[in-house]
Order: sequence, then C-alpha cells, then structure tokens
Amino acid sequence: MDKALMRILILGGTGEASALVRGLPPGLDATLSLAGRTSAPKAEPVPTRSGGFGGAEGLGAWIVEHRIGCVIDATHPFAARISANAAQACAATGTTLLAIRRPAWDPVPGDRWIDAADMAAAVLALGDTPRRIFLTVGRLEVGAFAVAPQHDYVVRAIEPIGDALPVPRLTTIAARGPFDVQAETAFLAERGIAVLVSKNSGGAATYGKIAAARALALPVVMVRRPAKPAVASVADAAGALDWLKAL
Ligand code: NAP
Repeated sequence: MDKALMRILILGGTGEASALVRGLPPGLDATLSLAGRTSAPKAEPVPTRSGGFGGAEGLGAWIVEHRIGCVIDATHPFAARISANAAQACAATGTTLLAIRRPAWDPVPGDRWIDAADMAAAVLALGDTPRRIFLTVGRLEVGAFAVAPQHDYVVRAIEPIGDALPVPRLTTIAARGPFDVQAETAFLAERGIAVLVSKNSGGAATYGKIAAARALALPVVMVRRPAKPAVASVADAAGALDWLKAL
C-alpha cells in the first residue's frame, strides 16, 4: 500500500463504519469520526474523535493537519451534509475518497408503501384523519410532525427526544436496533399502529419493521433519500476492506 494512503479518516456513525474499523488490516493508522449526537456511542477499536469539523473547509484543514491520505465516508444515507463536505474537502486537498453507499430498500409484493420526497411530504401523506402513527425517523426529524397534532404518535429513537414533538398524544421509546421482524410485528400489533413512517435507510438492522408492516398489511410512508455526491463507492464494509487491500 502507498505510504501516503496509510492515514485514514473514517466518517462514521453507522453499522458499516463499525464493521469497517473492526476489519481493518493491521498497520493502518485509522481515525473514526463521529458527529457526537449519541451520548454513549459504542466503543470502537480505533482512535475516535467526535464533533463537527466546521464545514468542508474545516474538514479540509483537519485532513491536511493530520496528513490524511484517504477518507472513507461511511455515514448514514440521510447524512447528506457531511458527505457533501467530504467530497468538497477531498477535492480541494487532493485526498482519495471512497464512500460506502448502502443500497436503498425496494418494495416487494405485499408492501403498501407511500412514497414521500422528504419529511414535510411524509407529514402530508398521513392525512387529516387522526391515526396512530409509529415514527421511526430519528430524534432530529420528529419535529416536522408537530404540524399534524391530530395523530397519536409512538416515537422510537436512540436518544430521548425531549420536547422535540409537542403534540397532545405522544409515547416515546428510547431504543437502539437491530430489531427483528417477530418483535417488530408484535410491537406494531400490541400498540395498535395504523401507519409506519420510515426513512429509506436500507440495510438489515432496521428492516424488521418494514417486513412487520408487510406481514400486518400496514401502510408505510417511506421517505426518500437526499442526494449524495457521485464519488467512488462500494455497497458495504466488506467492499471498503477489499478496496483498501487493493490499494
Ligand atoms: P449531516 O446532516 O450530514 O451533518 C451535519 C453536520 O454534522 C455536518 O456538517 C458535520 O458538521 C457534522 N457531522 C456529521 N457527521 C459527522 C461525522 N461522522 N463526523 C464529524 N462530524 C459529522 O449528518 P446527520 O444526518 O446529522 O448525521 C449525523 C451523524 O449521525 C452521522 O455520522 C451519520 O452517519 C449518523 N447517523 C445519521 C442518521 C440520519 O438519519 N441522519 C441515522 C443514523 C446515523 P461540520 O459541518 O461542523 O463538520
């Protein structure tokens, strides 16, 4: 491997980033970067830094200061800003960039998906008639649903949501996946859920709720992914490890 490529910055916060740092060959000098949103992140076997860099310029300066030869963008499909910053910073500093772009979920027979271009469209898709909604869009996105207080919301997020969703009928559950399909099916049935709202995150860790909604013939408002820059990419951590070995 080219010596200049041996210092690696991995932009993480995902299962792929965790799998990648666990599979790295010895001798690589890798740093994992987290946004710092989760108060007790999982311990990882490489040095970890936390918090924003200060935009694309800040990330570029960090890359230069730490003599990074290669950046792997292993962020979540909905983390669009950091991926745009990574593309811009790597282009500006001449740094090799690889992205892990997790494939989106596609509907299969039996799915009752309602496509939503973004979170605002997802709110509108719920309609005016009050229904019990299972919201699994993440703590930072639930606020969009405050404009539809007629619904009864069950929210599940990794961190407590505080007062992010000020509606009269709200149940919050703090939990971190993976969640299997049997548990999700029982959960949806016990809670009397009528509609599920989900980001099209892709991957296996949170697919249980999608399969469970299908089993119960429940509609799913599926929020489309934001655009990410077109850069060299692989689908998963194994692909990134193969790419690193081939350097
Ligand atoms: P975002 O909107 O793309 O990023 C917002 C800002 O947060 C960035 O401009 C950057 O700040 C900082 N940031 C994001 N990821 C970072 C990282 N890995 N290391 C250092 N700084 C980072 O991102 P987001 O949607 O808020 O997601 C934040 C983190 O949570 C990401 O690491 C992502 O992989 C993870 N995550 C997100 C979701 C989701 O649904 N969005 C779900 C699961 C996990 P500066 O501009 O100051 O550098």
